[in-house]
Amino acid sequence: MDRNKDNLVSPPGNTVVVNGEVFELFIDRETIHRRIRELAGAIMADYSGRFPVFVCVLKGGFIFLADLVREMDMDCEIDFIRIASYGDAKQSSGLVTLEKDVSGDISGRHVIIVEDIVDTGRSVEFITELIMKRNPLSLKFLTLLHKPESTEVDVRLDYVGFKIPSRFVIGYGLDYAQKGRNLPAIYILPRNGT
Ligand code: 5GP
Ligand code: MG
Repeated sequence: MDRNKDNLVSPPGNTVVVNGEVFELFIDRETIHRRIRELAGAIMADYSGRFPVFVCVLKGGFIFLADLVREMDMDCEIDFIRIASYGDAKQSSGLVTLEKDVSGDISGRHVIIVEDIVDTGRSVEFITELIMKRNPLSLKFLTLLHKPESTEVDVRLDYVGFKIPSRFVIGYGLDYAQKGRNLPAIYILPRNGT
């Protein structure tokens, strides 16, 4: 296997190489989609008769949001925020800044934040503070992935797709230095990786 290749290759054995590092298949696309259908069902039951606004956190949440809302037979509004959390490519620092705000007025609305992954929880803390200032009617958090062992702040996650170990993952929206977002499944860096 050529580990020095920079581009995305698929060697045998359910691994991919992204930016020269080998990642192993962790959650396959069927498992992701089965879980998304369950989450969509739970949200539809909880928000029956309401018109919630999904606020997707860019960039990582875009694929999850797109698949989720297509499983939902209810009216909903879609908006986006973008936050940047600084750190090296594989570790978040907890320092968060807002790069793009929502475009609509969310005061008096039922807001559901859609995250790709919750790691330290600093992003959730930052978004909670930001959104609560606008007086939503309610605020809930939905995340595809959660690393409970890395979460340092007390965050309330209302809907969680999968709890995962504290290892670096890519695919299905999540990147490694901007690559790998378009992988249809979730891949994980093996334990011996850096
Ligand atoms: P937080 O530490 O604030 O909970 O998460 C900050 C951000 O770090 C996440 O939204 C995500 O962009 C990034 N992040 C955390 N863990 C991982 C991971 O395993 N893989 C990738 N690609 N990004 C991660
Ligand atoms: Mg994110």
